[in-house]
This record gives sequence, structure tokens and C-alpha cells, in this order.
Amino acid sequence: MNFLPTTFDELKGANIKQLDIIFVTGDAYVDHPSFGVALLGRLLESKGYKVGIIAQPMNIEDVKRLGRPRLFFGVASGNVDSMVANYTASRKKRRSDDYTPGGINNRRPDRAVIQYVNLIRQAFKDVVVVIGGIEASLRRFAHYDWWSDKVRKSILLDSKADILVYGMGETATVEIAKRLESGQSIDGIRGTVVWKSSLNGLENGSNKSLHVPSYEEVCTDTDAYGRMYKDVSLMTDPFKEIVIIQKQDNRYVVQYPPAFPLGQNELDELYLLPYTRRVHPFYEAQGNVKAIETVRFSITSVRGCFGNCAFCALSNHQTTHIVSRSEESILEEVRRLTKMPEFRGTITDVGGPTANMYGSECDVRQS
Ligand code: SF4
Repeated sequence: MNFLPTTFDELKGANIKQLDIIFVTGDAYVDHPSFGVALLGRLLESKGYKVGIIAQPMNIEDVKRLGRPRLFFGVASGNVDSMVANYTASRKKRRSDDYTPGGINNRRPDRAVIQYVNLIRQAFKDVVVVIGGIEASLRRFAHYDWWSDKVRKSILLDSKADILVYGMGETATVEIAKRLESGQSIDGIRGTVVWKSSLNGLENGSNKSLHVPSYEEVCTDTDAYGRMYKDVSLMTDPFKEIVIIQKQDNRYVVQYPPAFPLGQNELDELYLLPYTRRVHPFYEAQGNVKAIETVRFSITSVRGCFGNCAFCALSNHQTTHIVSRSEESILEEVRRLTKMPEFRGTITDVGGPTANMYGSECDVRQS
């Protein structure tokens, strides 16, 4: 059973001298497509890159254990924002964590993305660091943070990462790998956010740009905050082709248009990559990871939600476009599940992030 490597012994066993990409995540390594870094890792592996995963690092030695990656470190808090994972809405510390071996909430730091980038920067000078996942994605502009009760800057500035990938991230992450491989700039990629000290060049070309109220304005003016949030939400449609700019102190946070949704073939291929659907033995030996139980025999059939409800972040992440897998692909995944020794005859779920919107994208919709 092949997992992506997470220990030095696995690298030695596979005769890998240097990995191309290493993901650092706040969840245990569960090799299942419901886990973002497993999905991106398998996708990059299918494109020929050597990928490793370091889950829940506690110190610099942990982030050093697979060496320095040739292309970049990818950092995520895990499947949940670390502040949501660590605290209740009434700001009480959560005791349990279904994404941690043994279920005890003692492995994920608060503001995990910032903490992990700090560890990487201490361990490896000048390595490229890409942040992504739900925590980075939803904190990409100035945002209100319930736990500190204040408006925080973009997590890209607070973490000092090189680039932020927002949304589901497949095309942007592969594009970053390709560009770094060929020595090109990673500026200007759809589905990413960067920061700049000047807008020279950005507004002279064909880009349509939208300036939203600055960090300083949204800190003191709730109407400005509302306008910023509305503009960012309405521009999550990739076909609008808008670059969003927000000034934060003397820098500009620049969001390039969202990545186009994957096509049906791409989604089919993604979910049929060789996931083991198990917890990596290195983490399993430390205790049961409960989160696998609810998804091990579930199947993703669709992405996106056209509901676009004001209180929900889903369309900010998956867009309002519905993409459905083919029936053949879903049936092939069913066949694979039924061959697993743990299978007891029940597929627990076939669906997506919301109500059943399978096959309901409008053919003539452009935006
Ligand atoms: S997932 Fe549900 S709450 Fe969120 S936008 Fe869709 S319909 Fe609305």
C-alpha cells in the first residue's frame, strides 16, 4: 500500500534524494480525497512530481525531517480553520479533535498557517512557501476575526508566505509547480493572491481591476467593511475576470481572478487517483483518527453551490458553478470501495458540499 512519504525512512526506502514539494498540514495525514493535501499531493504525483507530507509538526526538527523541497513547501491548517478547530464559538478551548491521532486536541497550534510558515522560515532560508486551504483562502483579504475581536490583515502579509492559493487549488498549485520548475515568475496565476509594493504594470495591461476599501478603512468603518465583503463575494465568479486590489499599510494585496472550475474529465481523474483511503501508519500508530470513519466510504459526485447564501463561505471557495462527475467514474469508485477489506456493504454518502445539485449546471450560463 503506497502512501506519499512522511518519514525519512520512507524517502530512503523509495530511493528519493530530494522531494519536489512538501505539504505541511494541521491534520494527520489521511490519504483520502476529502483531505486537501492528500488530494493535491496525489494530483502533483500524477504529474510526475515527488511529493511528501508532514502532518502536525510540533517543532523545527519535524519540518526538517524530509529535507528541503526542490520547488516549494505548501502549507495548510488542515480541513478546518485552526481557530474553529481549537475553540468553540464562545471561545472555549475544544478538548477533542477528530483530525488528530487519539482524538485529543493537542497537536494543532492556533493560527496554524502562520505558525507553520514561521517554522519553515527558521528551518530553510529562502525556500518558496505557498499557503492555501480553508484558513488561508477565507482570510486572504482583511477580515474580522471573532477570537481576537478585531479586523486582521491578509494572512499572506501576517504569515510572510510567498503566495496564497485560494479556492480548491488544483490548477493554481500545478501551475506554481510548473513555473518554479521552469524558472518563471509565479506572479499572475489565476486562483492566487500576492502582495506588491507598487501597482506599476498591473493596471497598464488588459487586467480589469477593482479596488476595495483599504485595511485601514475597513478597521474603522463598518459600511466600508460591508462594501469590501460584497465586492469580494460577487467577484468569486471566474468568468468575471476581475483582479481585486486592497491596500494594507503601504502594500497592495492583489487577488487574480479565480481559477476556472475543473471540467468533468478532470474531476473524474482527480477522484480516481490511487488514494489508499487510510490513515498513514506513522500517524495511525499514535492513535485512531476519527475523521476517516465518516468519509472512508463516501463519494464526491459534485462540486460548487449556486445558493450563494450571504452567511456561507462555500461559494467563496468552490464558486457557484456546479461540476458533476460522470456516472462511469462514480461507479468505478464504487467498485474500488467494495474491494476494500473494511467494506461492509454501505456507501455512506454520494454527494457534494451542499444539497443534491448533481448535474444541475445550466449549459448556457456564462457568469
Ligand atoms: S452550501 Fe448551503 S448554505 Fe452554503 S451557499 Fe450553498 S445552499 Fe447556501
